Amino acid sequence: MIVQSAPDREEEFAIFNHLESEVRSYARSFPVVFAKAKGTHLFARDGTAYIDFLMGCSSLNYGHNPPELKSALADYIERDGITHGLDLYNEAKESFLREFRETILGPRQLDYVVQFPGPTGSNAVEAALKLARKITGRPNVIAFTNGFHGVSLGALSCTGNRHHRAAAGQLLGAVTRLPYDGYLGSAADTADYLDHLLSDPSSGVDAPAAVIVETVQGEGGLNVAGTAWLRKVAAIAHRYGALLIVDDIQAGVGRTDGFFSFEAAGLRPDIVTMAKSISGYGLPMALVLIDRQLDKWEPGEHNGTFRGNCHAFVTARAALEHFWRKDSFAAAVAEKGDLLKSRLDQITRKYNPGQASAKGRGMMRGIDLKSGEIAGQVISTAFQNGLIVETAGPKDEVVKCLPPLVIGEDQLSQGLDILEHAIESVLGSTVNIARTRKS
Ligand code: PMP
Repeated sequence: MIVQSAPDREEEFAIFNHLESEVRSYARSFPVVFAKAKGTHLFARDGTAYIDFLMGCSSLNYGHNPPELKSALADYIERDGITHGLDLYNEAKESFLREFRETILGPRQLDYVVQFPGPTGSNAVEAALKLARKITGRPNVIAFTNGFHGVSLGALSCTGNRHHRAAAGQLLGAVTRLPYDGYLGSAADTADYLDHLLSDPSSGVDAPAAVIVETVQGEGGLNVAGTAWLRKVAAIAHRYGALLIVDDIQAGVGRTDGFFSFEAAGLRPDIVTMAKSISGYGLPMALVLIDRQLDKWEPGEHNGTFRGNCHAFVTARAALEHFWRKDSFAAAVAEKGDLLKSRLDQITRKYNPGQASAKGRGMMRGIDLKSGEIAGQVISTAFQNGLIVETAGPKDEVVKCLPPLVIGEDQLSQGLDILEHAIESVLGSTVNIARTRKS
């Protein structure tokens, strides 16, 4: 199935080209007009089906329009349930909170309170940073190389990517950047370096309000922090009176581990940020989970009009009930993650490690093709053959696979076959191309 090239279809994109800002990005990699989505597939207006390994950048962990969530939402709308409730008490929020306590927090013995910030990940990160600074009275925050935490100013200060940072047009301050696990090679323990800096009164690094970390860096290129490193970072943060914020916006909701990405490491962050797949249906919703002792907000101190997306509460509750009440769901996702790993290992074994290597964790894995240009050619070839998959990493050199957690083995294999052939067709002809930067 070969789609026509973009120039042949200029007419089809006329309204977007005329009226939509140049800031659009994903649309440039996948130049068709989409009309429908179901399960693992997106359908273009002409009916062409695409296997979706982008999945709203991990916002659709249960696939497109999952039937159990759709019927819960349709019922709710049909009976004129409240759509917009500011932060008023309402039944949709009540049911979500009950389900979240019973299914997620209770069994894990996590005594968090839940803050509903505005509906995006960046909103959650802004609130988390603000609260940490308010509690500790310290302005500085530690963030890591290749971290991505959003593009509003506070979150952007913690984001590493130069392309995004440059767009701020102003200084991004009050953040000290430190090397993530593995950033300086496997021999260097960068948690020890953090410890060293904070213990030295003359290091120039002030005691921080918080350390903010992703356990697996999504936009940063699927870098995985080791368990020992994470535990050390958590202990160091606490030793110096800083809060540990785990940004679980992309790696959470089953993508990499249990429900939270930090469960296997046995962490208990002071603050957790969540968004993307928490609603389960692609509806905007974000959470900040705050250790009960640290809930130092005054009423309305951090607010926003859209803190009560009742439709998202309804689908989020249905997702927890349908998927997470049973332990078997996490086990099935873990098995699928193993399958994804073994297939990616098998693909990369055909090349030398300087050309391709597999990385990631759980259902958040991909292939580092060492060059943004090559990775770009691979995703474009894959798209022409019916697979939507994006790149990540500092040079867009990592092809990042985010299949739905509920994908069938056949469809997973089908998508990976397309990816394998795309890599074959590109690496076969461009092995010696020099590294070039896309952004
Ligand atoms: N944190 C992480 C880890 C993310 O991956 C993202 C989005 N890619 C964000 C924060 C920002 O979320 P949003 O785009 O919803 O503002």
